[in-house]
Amino acid sequence: MTDTLQIDIHPIEKSRIDTVDFDNLVFGRSFSDHMLSVDYQNGEWQRPQILPFGDITFSPAMMSLHYGQAIFEGMKAYKSASGEILVFRPEENWKRLNKSADRMCMPAIPEDIFMEGLSALLSLDSAWIPAKEGCSMYIRPFMFSTDGYVGVSPSKGYKFMIFTCPVGAYYTKPIRVRVETKFIRAAHGGVGFSKNAGNYGASLYPTKLASDAGYDQIIWTDASEHKFVEEAGTMNLMFVIDGKLVTAPIGDTILDGVTRKSVIQVARDFGMAVEERQLSIQELTEGVTSGKVQEAFGAGTAAVIAPIATIGYDGVDYELPAQSLDLFSRRVFTEIDNIKTGKIADTRGWIMKI
Ligand SMILES: *Cc1c(COP(=O)(O)O)cnc(C)c1O
Repeated sequence: MTDTLQIDIHPIEKSRIDTVDFDNLVFGRSFSDHMLSVDYQNGEWQRPQILPFGDITFSPAMMSLHYGQAIFEGMKAYKSASGEILVFRPEENWKRLNKSADRMCMPAIPEDIFMEGLSALLSLDSAWIPAKEGCSMYIRPFMFSTDGYVGVSPSKGYKFMIFTCPVGAYYTKPIRVRVETKFIRAAHGGVGFSKNAGNYGASLYPTKLASDAGYDQIIWTDASEHKFVEEAGTMNLMFVIDGKLVTAPIGDTILDGVTRKSVIQVARDFGMAVEERQLSIQELTEGVTSGKVQEAFGAGTAAVIAPIATIGYDGVDYELPAQSLDLFSRRVFTEIDNIKTGKIADTRGWIMKI
């Protein structure tokens, strides 16, 4: 880039970092000192600002609260052993945010605002990026409409923001998931492929019912027949069947996960066959029973890989084989984690160094 973007930086007077217990970080509960804030007014993005993290004021008629023009992203940065800041595949999140924006009639965020704003924010709050094994900085870019107006139409004004959260290792014991056959997450022609806030609001109730029945998450199935496996919560679903990696193909009902595409790439590099295809509940449950389905796991930025122990369907719990170190899900997790933390060379061009 020839001329660098101007960012107004208003640093915090006194850091809050001493108030945070870095040995007991709860995911999404601690916020770093600063946030990026960029307004869209009169058809253009205004000068980005970095401000102390804190409350913002808005009209009770702010349209995003009423009509749902609100989208977000999630990604992570790591500190390498030598203290470098490494961000995992941020261009993918930038592109996906703009796909979500397009679907929701929101303005695209220019690459320089996203990348340079992110770099400036992470540099300023670099002390907040945990260096401890398994820890990272969760990054939350998001955009919402800001006009105070009653009427369903696209807003004229928007705000794009990024804040960051130091997070600890996301050790999940293998999860119990239930196949959902009544409620749906995404239908063809809908907004399932976009990370738009309403999708998550709609998922709360069915997820609560599954939770009341003793499951950690839902396996969403296709909206028309409830016959094919789609996603689990905020993760893409992946399976190892007869030694092949199987996952639902990307389409308008599936979120195009960065973790998913990274796992697929690593699988191919390991010499494993990958099938992006529909997987029916019948094939899945029969496969778990016969032992053809060797592994099931969720893939997403927060947990990276969440192994599945149990799949509940129609009142029956199907149990996956026990975890062991030589499972693909373990090996792929280690490979991706080593790239993210700079322990092995980034031969795939996935890391942005700050
Ligand atoms: C964010 C998300 C994912 C995972 O995407 P990543 O880029 O890997 O974090 C998968 N499914 C849904 C519904 C999501 O919201």
